[in-house]
Amino acid sequence: MSILPYAHKHVQEIRAYKPGKPISETARELHMNPDDIVKLASNENPLGASPLAVQAMLHAAQGVNLYPDGSSYELRSKIAHLFGVGMDQTVVGSGGSELIELLCHTCLGPGTELVAARYSFTMYPLMCKLFGATFVEVDNKPDWSHDLQAMLRAITPRTRIVFITNPTNPVGTMVQQSELDDFMERVPEHVIVAFDEAYIHFADPQPDTLRYVKRGQNAVMIRTFSKAYGLAGARAGFAITTEEIAGLLHKVRSPFNMNSLAQAAASAALDDEQHVRRSVQLVRSEMRRYEQAFSELGLTYVPSQGNFVLVKVGDGERVFHECLKRGVILRPMGGYGLHEYIRITIGTAEQNTRCLQALAEALKVSR
Ligand SMILES: *Cc1c(COP(=O)(O)O)cnc(C)c1O
Repeated sequence: MSILPYAHKHVQEIRAYKPGKPISETARELHMNPDDIVKLASNENPLGASPLAVQAMLHAAQGVNLYPDGSSYELRSKIAHLFGVGMDQTVVGSGGSELIELLCHTCLGPGTELVAARYSFTMYPLMCKLFGATFVEVDNKPDWSHDLQAMLRAITPRTRIVFITNPTNPVGTMVQQSELDDFMERVPEHVIVAFDEAYIHFADPQPDTLRYVKRGQNAVMIRTFSKAYGLAGARAGFAITTEEIAGLLHKVRSPFNMNSLAQAAASAALDDEQHVRRSVQLVRSEMRRYEQAFSELGLTYVPSQGNFVLVKVGDGERVFHECLKRGVILRPMGGYGLHEYIRITIGTAEQNTRCLQALAEALKVSR
C-alpha cells in the first residue's frame, strides 16, 4: 500500500531543490577523472576555506563523541561582538538555508503569504510549499533588480515575510541603502523583512541593514559561511534580529542544529578577514575578465555584485551540456524560466580559463 495519500497534501506537491551538479556524479557519468572537472555551478569559494577554519575542524574532530554546545556560545558571542548586538539577538544554524527555514517555521502556514522577487533564491517558494503558505512572486525591474515599490504593493494583511536578497541570486543585482531605507519606512509593522545577504561580501558598497534591527523593526539579517568564507560543505550560517524574533527562531530550531565541526569552523573563519579579502579580490578581478570575454564573444550578461554572473548564451541547456562534456559544470537556468541563460560561478584564474574555452567551443557547436 502506498503511504503517499497519508502525507500532507502540500508536501506531496513539493519539487525537490535542484542543486548544482556534483563533481563525483559528473565524473561517474562521463567516465572522467574528478580532478579534471571544474565545478562553477554553486557559487562556492574556489580558494577553499580559511586554513584557520580547517585547523579548527581538525581540532574539533577529537571531540565528536560529545554533543555540540547546543547554545553555540562561542560562535554566537563572537558574532554579537563583531556586529555590536546582544547575544540574544543571534541565532546560528546549518547554513543560511536553515535560518530561512526556521524563520518560515515561525509564522508561515495555510492562509499566510511570503513575498519575494521572481529572480531570487528558489528556497523561498519551496518553503511556502513546505508550510502550506502562498508564494507571492514579484517581477524584477527591467534592470533585473528587486522592484521594492511593487513588493510593497504586494503586501496584504496575510503577508508574514518579505525576502530581500541582496545581492540577489541568480542575477547579481543589488538594491541600495536609500531604496532600502524608503522600503523600511513604509513596510507595515506586521511583516518580517528578511535580508538574505549570502553574497554581501562581494558587493560594493554594502548597505547597512542592521540599523533596522537596532531600531527595533521586525527585520532579520541572514548570512552564510558557504560563499565568501568557503565553508559550503560544513553547513554554517547565522541570523541577527530582534530579541523577540530570535526567541522564536530558538524555539523552532532543534536542540543541536549546528554540529560541533561547523561551529568551530565558522568561529575560526570569522577571525580570518584576510582570507575573505583575498577571495573577494579574486572574484572582482576575474569578473572583469569574464565581462571582457563576454563582450568579445558577443554575449550579453547582467552586471553582477556577487561571485557569479548570469550570461545569455542562446540555448542554455545545450550550452550547459556542451560545457559538461568538456568537464566544466555550469548552472542552467531553465528552473527560473531563463532558458537562454546560464549562471557561472567565478573560479580561480585557471578554472575560468577552462570555462571560457569550453564556453567558446560550446557556443560554436550550439549556435
Ligand atoms: C547560497 C545561498 C544561501 C545560503 O546557503 P547555505 O549554503 O544554506 O548557507 C542563502 N541565500 C542565497 C540567495 C544563496 O544563494
